[in-house]
Amino acid sequence: GLIYRGRYIVNWCPRCGTAISDEEVEFREEDSKLWYIAYPFIDGSGEVVVGTTRPETMLGDVAVAMSPEHARAKELDGRMVRLPLTDRGIPVILDEAVDPEFGTGFLKVTPAHDATDFEIGLRHGLDPFIVIGSDGMMNERAGAFAGMDISSARQAVLGELEKQGLLRKTEDYRHAVGHHDRCGDPIEPYVSKQWFLRMDSLAAPAIDAVKDGEIVFSPERWKNIYLSWMEGIRDWCISRQLWWGHRIPVWYCDACGTEMVAREDPAECAGCGSKEIRQDEDVLDTWFSSWLWTFSTMGWPEETDELRKFHPTDVLVTGGDIIFFWVARMIMASIEFTGEIPFSDVYITGIVRDNQGRKMSKSLGNSPDMIDIIDRHGADAFRFSLMMLSPPGQDLLFDEKKVEVGRHFANKIWNAARFVLSQEEGEGLFAEDGLRTAPDCLTGLFEILFGSPPSGSFETGWEDEWIASRLAARMEEYSAAIGSYRFDEASRTIYEFFWHEFCDWYLEFSKPALRGGGDRARGAALAARTVLAASMVMLHPVMPFISEEIWSMLSPGAPLLAGFHFRGLPAGMRDAGLDADVSLMMEIVTSVRNIRQSFNIPYQKELSVVINTEEGSGLSASIGRFRSQIMGMAGIGDLVVADGAEKPAGSAAAGLTRLEIYVPLGGVVDLGAEKERFTREIEKLRVECAKIEQRLGDEKFTRRAPADVVARERERFGEMEDRRKRLERILEDLA
Ligand SMILES: [Zn+2]
Ligand SMILES: [Zn+2]
Repeated sequence: GLIYRGRYIVNWCPRCGTAISDEEVEFREEDSKLWYIAYPFIDGSGEVVVGTTRPETMLGDVAVAMSPEHARAKELDGRMVRLPLTDRGIPVILDEAVDPEFGTGFLKVTPAHDATDFEIGLRHGLDPFIVIGSDGMMNERAGAFAGMDISSARQAVLGELEKQGLLRKTEDYRHAVGHHDRCGDPIEPYVSKQWFLRMDSLAAPAIDAVKDGEIVFSPERWKNIYLSWMEGIRDWCISRQLWWGHRIPVWYCDACGTEMVAREDPAECAGCGSKEIRQDEDVLDTWFSSWLWTFSTMGWPEETDELRKFHPTDVLVTGGDIIFFWVARMIMASIEFTGEIPFSDVYITGIVRDNQGRKMSKSLGNSPDMIDIIDRHGADAFRFSLMMLSPPGQDLLFDEKKVEVGRHFANKIWNAARFVLSQEEGEGLFAEDGLRTAPDCLTGLFEILFGSPPSGSFETGWEDEWIASRLAARMEEYSAAIGSYRFDEASRTIYEFFWHEFCDWYLEFSKPALRGGGDRARGAALAARTVLAASMVMLHPVMPFISEEIWSMLSPGAPLLAGFHFRGLPAGMRDAGLDADVSLMMEIVTSVRNIRQSFNIPYQKELSVVINTEEGSGLSASIGRFRSQIMGMAGIGDLVVADGAEKPAGSAAAGLTRLEIYVPLGGVVDLGAEKERFTREIEKLRVECAKIEQRLGDEKFTRRAPADVVARERERFGEMEDRRKRLERILEDLA
């Protein structure tokens, strides 16, 4: 008893003679009019005025609706008005759907020819009164207007209203009108007989499954969207007037009126035996078969091995635009027919839109050719950029420029791998015996990745232990991000690790060891290869091709990375103390390098540097541990580190947490000339900022210019302001 026949309003194309789905309706802005028509009260005590863009449909009105918020709601509720041009009286009703601010606040209700009105009619038990036929012509119920097409009927109705003095006023009005995307003709909402599925008993257990956490949505906000739709679910219209689809298995006998529902095509009427039977012309909504997907593809209703093994499955990945069409219905169908949920996790991706936020579509011609993009930037670059730049559940505004992030990253990875593989010392790791000094975790990881422990003699250093520790920290972050479906964070984690920690810092840290040769060089090569290989494991889901290629170069002849089972990291790789000390060293080196850059001090010129650490912070000991590295990498000839050290006169300064760095510039740069240069630059920035400020203050500009141009100007303003403030601070320091 779940399926029944009933009346329903559909999008109808009179030209093509078919119902079409909402997705096939194309809305276009059109100039039209809003006509105001008076409906007099039957008792002669005045009138209400309704505004409409479709006066010809008034012949099918069954009520006048007003908002319950309307000032006259109490007074007018239930009163009867005379429907002009007819002999019918219709009631005034109250309905939430009426916008009290729109037009006069009164809405004519035409359930047969307007989707909103159809809903209002259902809520108030008002039957549709059909005046336009499926051929787009006024029918016999339109009285004097019968036989006219819609636009002639509109003119005739307006003429008659005018004559009777019931047309109150006419306004210009621009609004969106639905057209059939295939033939371009306007859509007529049309009430017809359709097949429905009762949803209440199907929805209840599907609501519980999500409420009880058996099925989990990511991002979480989709849970509420799902629940609010399911809790307000309406019966599902499952019939379609299309050529293609599963034909509805109902047969009719015109002779005796019998209706038969059968799995096999019947040969004759079960009631009178007549052979003159005909099958229903309609087909089932495509989702009425798709909702069976999770189990019908496994051989259901047979109890197959596939069904036992793969149902329910773990994760459904899909777009939020089909959460009702498909996701909710799969949950209902699976529980109804198999007694099981179909999947335990639903991951909703964002949707890729164009850079103006429009959905990509054939008619807009705004969808780029994926193959072209892959040809230009590479498949990995494309995939990685999309993943890194898509915040969970939010749409991505696509611009081909964004793919450059991935392309640059792929180049960086390739160059780093070539560099690591060019270290001859790495070859020895697969050969002879010798002295082995390296933490167990690093040789253990080497064995996990390459299948056997490293051989030959080698000795690792602090930098190798540091990069191993960073790898462990990043892998933990990466796994957590993947586990919570934060693919953007996972991509950013591998990006930050590989680009900055591995390439920018580690490869520089390890240069002295490599230059020195011998066991230390082999130790550095061991760490570099091990971390590179582990990075490829991490990178594989987001950049499958380049990671596979580098993997094959790292261990020629090994099976594919795609099939590699990574057992996880060995214990003891994290060293938080080492991480903190090296990170402090990196910050100090970066700060001194920034000062060099601000004053155009060539790298060859050695600097004197004073670091003032906070009393009791213990930072001077941390700095002491990497003193020679700091001096070497920042080009420092003379380094003083002391709690409460004084700032030398004429110093540039930089502040870090609980310490200050001073670089005396006397004798290094021409202080007078530098001060002048900064003053000039500050003045230039001030003038430029004032110009932008004026432009941004001009309403004509901000209103007319494209949003991205305005945003870019704002950004430029912010950047220049920041730079100006920074230069002013430097100038102050120099004073
Ligand atoms: Zn059409
Ligand atoms: Zn019959």
